[in-house]
Amino acid sequence: MNESFLVYHEPVFRPPSEANSVILQVTHGCKWNNCTFCEMYTTKKYSVKPFDTIQKELHLLSTMDPNINRIFIGDGDLFSVDFEFIIATLKEIKKHFKKAKRISTYASTRELQKFTKEQLLAIREEGLNLLYIGLESGDDDVLDLINKGIHAEEQAQACLLAKEAGFKISVMILNGLGGQEFTEAHAINSAKLLNKVQPDLLALLVISFPYGFKHFKKRLKGDYHPLSQLEVIKEMRLLLSYLELESTVFRSDHASNYLVLKGGLNRDRDKFIAQLDHIIEHTIHVPSPHLNEFDL
Ligand code: SF4
Repeated sequence: MNESFLVYHEPVFRPPSEANSVILQVTHGCKWNNCTFCEMYTTKKYSVKPFDTIQKELHLLSTMDPNINRIFIGDGDLFSVDFEFIIATLKEIKKHFKKAKRISTYASTRELQKFTKEQLLAIREEGLNLLYIGLESGDDDVLDLINKGIHAEEQAQACLLAKEAGFKISVMILNGLGGQEFTEAHAINSAKLLNKVQPDLLALLVISFPYGFKHFKKRLKGDYHPLSQLEVIKEMRLLLSYLELESTVFRSDHASNYLVLKGGLNRDRDKFIAQLDHIIEHTIHVPSPHLNEFDL
């Protein structure tokens, strides 16, 4: 590491709500790197950053601004790292940033479930307080299709354990992920998973194909027929109609979303459903494009 510069290993990702946080890369890439829809870290080889590099980077950051109070730990999944390493990293963050109030990270349920409640409590005690969890779906067939490496019930248990340990959890579901084959099951079972978990924050995103549709389809573990925009809206409506959430902040305002909805659930659920019904009623159905023909 250059003593004067913090060098980021690109590409770097963070949730939109961490735009004002300092990013500290504890790992490079994603250990699993195997979800067939995900291209975030396919260009990176997974590695854990040496601890002395983390120490140097934190020192350098603290000389730039000792008042930093929001830190996002990258890359793909902090819980792919050993418990002792996580604790040591958090202690080091606290040592350098006494005012750190929000320390967050991406966390996969597959890795999270390997930790005991006591370990999660200890990690929470050291200051990590917000986990961004890509659930993607609550339907086992869809989870198999995308090779998520975990099923819905295990995802629920991992999330509940994290909540019991005191973490805030922000979860993501990907609309359109099951294609036409699984759209109904994907919507209903995702809603059921969310009802079980009662997340603090929920983001609904829409599946996209950054490397082209043929590439996406090739990686899937099964056949896939994409939804049209109207079918995605209908899937979203079905999911919302099955939700029974007590107090969840809801967002569908990612770049992938066709329609921006923001509010609280279930407080605003009927309002959202009425908006979606209006769109469904006033939109002419255009079948999903023949993506194979247009693909590069
Ligand atoms: S665990 Fe997350 S980052 Fe890793 S491949 Fe799956 S979706 Fe991508």
